[in-house]
Amino acid sequence: MINFNQPHLTGKEAHYMYEAVYAGKLSGNGTFTKRCQARFEERYGFRKTLLTTSGTDALEMCAMLCELKPGDEVIVPSYTFVSTALAFLREGAKVVFADSMKRNPNLDAETLESLITPRTKVIVPVHYAGVACDMNAIMAIAEKHNLLVVEDAAQAIDSYYISRKSKVESQKPLGSIGHLAAFSFHETKNITAGGEGGLLVVNDERFVRRAEIIWEKGTNRAEFFRGEVNKYGWVDMGSSFLPSEVNAAFLWAQLENLDEIQAKRKQLWNIYHERLSNILERFAPSGKNPRKGAFTLPDIPSYATNNAHMFYLVLPSLEARTAFIKYLKENGVAAVFHYLSLHTSEFYKTRHDGRALPQCDRYADCLVRLPLFYDLKMEEVHHICDLIGTYYQSHC
Ligand SMILES: *Cc1c(COP(=O)(O)O)cnc(C)c1O
Repeated sequence: MINFNQPHLTGKEAHYMYEAVYAGKLSGNGTFTKRCQARFEERYGFRKTLLTTSGTDALEMCAMLCELKPGDEVIVPSYTFVSTALAFLREGAKVVFADSMKRNPNLDAETLESLITPRTKVIVPVHYAGVACDMNAIMAIAEKHNLLVVEDAAQAIDSYYISRKSKVESQKPLGSIGHLAAFSFHETKNITAGGEGGLLVVNDERFVRRAEIIWEKGTNRAEFFRGEVNKYGWVDMGSSFLPSEVNAAFLWAQLENLDEIQAKRKQLWNIYHERLSNILERFAPSGKNPRKGAFTLPDIPSYATNNAHMFYLVLPSLEARTAFIKYLKENGVAAVFHYLSLHTSEFYKTRHDGRALPQCDRYADCLVRLPLFYDLKMEEVHHICDLIGTYYQSHC
């Protein structure tokens, strides 16, 4: 069986975890935590970062920092992981679900403005599959209406938005554009902190001090240890969001190898893309023959880069996807689907305002993810593509 995902070890994890244990300080905000945070800040130009125990925690910190009042509205795509919405709902906000684009599952910036009301406070773009949302468009709308932007960059480590403003092109790391951002280091993401982990990014200076306080159970402990205040105490809301040094040590090993991990993932992603493009051309040519019964490949807009977080296909119907996943499973390949539309979920359907979100529903029914992880072999990717080729030979 080819697994859908397999966590990768660089080989240095256990070494650094021992080092953390023998240093005699295992609780959070120690040497490895600081080392990881400094690396993220230097490499991506984030103003301030704080490691968290999960991506969900980082999103919850973002939501707390937004200081929402009951009835405030937060715009979130419906095609996303629950935590994107849940973090804001827990703060008493009303979640307003946005539809995805036709070309890819990201939030549709063109219809975004129609969702804004006088109660809107925050927009939460999710960079699905590590592919950027149209951030210039989203930031312009946010600025016009004086809204905060929280990037759910859970899948988007080492990916960029290519900004073209008055003919000047610049690459901005995802997570560095909104006021706040959240990354995940869950075992299914490109790098992991030993199974669970996350990162809060603060780009707006206004939130730096409070972020640190919320991180440390509502105390000004971090300032105290830097010698900035002479006693520490309870000063605000907060929780225990910081991971242990053991997790930070694990993450450090992965972070040291980030370039190698990314290169390998992109190599595998490119094999999928090339082979499956050929299969599409052969069995479901574009032009006069509609690609009935076939699939579409991942879309990477000209303003986005690819961090090879995910390789997904979009099939024409739920029935087609079910049959496709079954065929792969029978042939020893675990392909999976995900994200039931949040607006139709058991928990939220009675709270949703009733708008249809057709693109979201289409991805929920038709999107399938193929195995993609560091230790997947090139031959295995070729084998999966061969299987798909055989399948379409008899289905198109
Ligand atoms: C993985 C993920 C999360 C949650 O991250 P955890 O670390 O599992 O809590 C949130 N949003 C998106 C889009 C994700 O993919």
